[in-house]
Amino acid sequence: MSNATAKVELTIDGQSLKVDATATVLEVALAHQVEIPYFCYHPYLSVPGNCRQCEVKVGSRQEDGSIRWMPKLQVSCNMPVAEGLVVDTRCDEVIQAQKNNMEFLLINHPLDCPICDQVGECWLQEHAYTAGMGETRFREEKVHMDKRVDIGPHVLLDKERCIQCTRCIRFCDEVTGTSELALMARGNHTEVDIFPGRPLDNPYSGNVVDICPVGALTLKEFRFKSRLWFLKTADSICPGCARGCNIKIWHRDHAIARLTPRDNPEVNKSWMCDQGRLLAPTLEAGERVREPRVEGKAVDWQEALDEAVSRLRRSGRPAGVIHPWSTLEEGWLALKVLAAAGEGGRPMLMALPAHEQGEDDDLLLRADKSPNRRGLENLLTARDAESASVADLLDRAVAGELSALLVVGEDLATLVSEEKLAAATAAGLELIVVASHENATTRAGTIVLPAGIFPEVDGTVVNFQGRVQVMRAAYPPPFLARTGAWILTRLASRLGDGSEDARPRDLFDELAAQVPAFQGLTFARLGAGGCVLPGGACETPASGSVG
Ligand code: SF4
Ligand code: SF4
Repeated sequence: MSNATAKVELTIDGQSLKVDATATVLEVALAHQVEIPYFCYHPYLSVPGNCRQCEVKVGSRQEDGSIRWMPKLQVSCNMPVAEGLVVDTRCDEVIQAQKNNMEFLLINHPLDCPICDQVGECWLQEHAYTAGMGETRFREEKVHMDKRVDIGPHVLLDKERCIQCTRCIRFCDEVTGTSELALMARGNHTEVDIFPGRPLDNPYSGNVVDICPVGALTLKEFRFKSRLWFLKTADSICPGCARGCNIKIWHRDHAIARLTPRDNPEVNKSWMCDQGRLLAPTLEAGERVREPRVEGKAVDWQEALDEAVSRLRRSGRPAGVIHPWSTLEEGWLALKVLAAAGEGGRPMLMALPAHEQGEDDDLLLRADKSPNRRGLENLLTARDAESASVADLLDRAVAGELSALLVVGEDLATLVSEEKLAAATAAGLELIVVASHENATTRAGTIVLPAGIFPEVDGTVVNFQGRVQVMRAAYPPPFLARTGAWILTRLASRLGDGSEDARPRDLFDELAAQVPAFQGLTFARLGAGGCVLPGGACETPASGSVG
């Protein structure tokens, strides 16, 4: 038997557990809801054992049933499990060690909590409540350090708040390999800092803010924006590229306050890139489409949908363009609409434009900036759709071979040119546009249907690894806009295909039953960690944020 699968039996606080022989005591404790406080340990970084907060009492059971305790407490993050190991995390000796360690950590820590951005998620504050002395015995002057050090384009450092856990340093050494941070000086003058002239400027710099257990590192873009308890959260998927990092949307008043990574060991561990983290300004820029329009005139939804159906039907063979930001459900519905509106006999004509930029890197970022290209390609194949480019579709319109185009999420002018788009509409092409923002295509649209965009959309997407993941809406679309799935279910239903009450989960189950790559999957099986195509090996649900 390989060591990776070998098991040992140990006891933690009287609880007997059979665990993986390669685990550490802290890993076993965390997996079994035994609370051991810690600061420096992180599941995806090396284990320095330097904060000492996770010390426990360790012994081994003897043949006569007695326990032989080790003479000193051990750091549980660096203590391998062993057969017959006995661990005590609650005895007086351990509690006193935690209190002593907290007193030591707090000696030079400023009394900043009322003005610190970390409040609500500060581990030092939490452990001070559970293991703090309640009052200080330190009468001398604290060591003072710089409190507002600009160490990179996105990160500010408060040196006084740092507890020298080295998580940020290890992240830059071990994950990005950029090594911008280090501990300088000695004793109680030790401070974390960048090397002179080398700012913290790697594409993943925001992760050091997430993993800093105190308020020493803050994100410039979130600093002082909101107290944590005023924010709501939704678990979603970053739409920034084909990686599909698992994220948490923190939001308030129908706006994103911040995006942070959620743990998924198979996709992004507990990291995300700065590009994805700072997507909000891009998403919130520009003018939203506020109400449905027919030939430039604002109308109600009923009229807009009826008119869209009539124009699609009249065209005989409408074609489609779908943005690969669209969910599987939106793609599935767009194909249903085209099939139901067409006269039959000929395959559907659909463009799925490429959105590539830069190159894949060694960590997370993908050149393909589409969160769902792979998923939508599967649908197009299953429905035997004929693939076309946007330029080709507009040429067909100019040649009089195409009279209606359903456009979901794309601005055709940015993909080809405004002139080409104008030539197609001048030749009689009717554009039925499902769009979140005003652009050249909505201005040229015959019918414009205002739609939601991430983070207003529920649905599923497939990342470049073939993992189907669930994207959850944080808040509804603004003004009179509705989600793409809401709009397209109503078009499909008016065309005689399906109920307009179908929810995204119903639509996923419907497509999974009909598209071979998704067979065996149901929405309920996807869970928090997603499932891999084909066939759907579903992982244990991800654990949420790793501190
Ligand atoms: S800045 Fe934060 S993460 Fe870095 S060493 Fe200090 S406390 Fe740890
Ligand atoms: S790597 Fe891609 S999916 Fe992940 S956070 Fe960055 S842009 Fe988003």
